[in-house]
Amino acid sequence: MTRARKPATIAAHAAGTIDPQSGGVVPALQPSTTYLRDENYALIRPDNIYARDNSDNLRQAETVLQRLENAQDTLLFPSGMAAIAAVFRTLPNGAGVIVQSGIYWGTTQWVRDFSARRDITLTEVDADDLLSACQTRQAALVFIETPSNPWLKTVDIAALAQASDATLVVDATAATPILMQPLALGADIVMHSATKAINGHSDVLAGVLSTNAPEARIWDDIRTDRKTAGAILGPFEAWLLTRAMRTLPLRVERMSQNAQALATFLLGHDQVEDVFYPGLPHHPGYEIAQRQMSGGYGSLMSVLVTGGRENALRIVGRLQLFLRATSLGGVESLVEHRHTIEPHTGIPENLIRVSVGIEDISDLIADWDQALKR
Ligand SMILES: *Cc1c(COP(=O)(O)O)cnc(C)c1O
Repeated sequence: MTRARKPATIAAHAAGTIDPQSGGVVPALQPSTTYLRDENYALIRPDNIYARDNSDNLRQAETVLQRLENAQDTLLFPSGMAAIAAVFRTLPNGAGVIVQSGIYWGTTQWVRDFSARRDITLTEVDADDLLSACQTRQAALVFIETPSNPWLKTVDIAALAQASDATLVVDATAATPILMQPLALGADIVMHSATKAINGHSDVLAGVLSTNAPEARIWDDIRTDRKTAGAILGPFEAWLLTRAMRTLPLRVERMSQNAQALATFLLGHDQVEDVFYPGLPHHPGYEIAQRQMSGGYGSLMSVLVTGGRENALRIVGRLQLFLRATSLGGVESLVEHRHTIEPHTGIPENLIRVSVGIEDISDLIADWDQALKR
């Protein structure tokens, strides 16, 4: 057997995708929604029937992701939330689920609403209590997010996988497949919002699920539901995603280096009370993160500044390079005052969430330095 290629090589070559028809070194964009049959009524390409089932561009993006994740099967969805919903929709009415609390607010909000409508017993548990909850409660599904957004809590995936027979689903958006491989740690399904670092250019909305157990009932249900209910990513978005992923390992490497340096600088600043970043040794999740991530700790961090809400908003308003916008994982640095966006979720008023891009680190630190001046 040939040696398995490394992520940077898989990504740069888009897993070997070319355009055989033109000889192009990049794949063609093929937007057709339907596919021809010949005079004997046989499909010209038996695997291409109708674009809600599949398309070449979708397969190409899925192949890159599958290889990067070391997964046996991968499915793309039109958003991260569509991917999460696809998992939960497989549950029968009355099922029990354990969901980590304090995660991406969109997930919490949708899962609460869905569970209420479907008589699903939803247990929301803090990252620190997940292990004991899994040991003591029956559940069909356990859904976690590590590192979590915006608290940057880390969960020991391997310990949880051992403690529970439930289907373990890990939202690994903040880590990307480059820094963490939840399937190898025992997760049943790994999910990413590909809108974030996987695409990384803030111009595609997409979500992805991968598994190493494609024969499992839940995976078959997810696959069938995507096709029949139609939550499929369009060819253009898939094509853009394939293009973007060529630089994913490079971008993640630079973002993680920048984030580590910025987090260290901010933690040492007298206008900063604390920095939540799994790469900082004082962070409660540092040891777990060290064990289950490699190559860095990602682009996402949260900063607690002194002086409460007023000072937080003043600082956010004075930043010039960090664009004031939601989302994360893009090449451009972003900053967000979470409390303004979701005041009801217990987010501290002095918390500033930061997504660190690929800019020059000296410019990023200089920007915070001037914004933090009294
Ligand atoms: C953004 C995000 C999602 C939702 O993804 P969309 O692509 O916006 O639907 C889910 N989980 C995490 C951790 C996210 O950051």
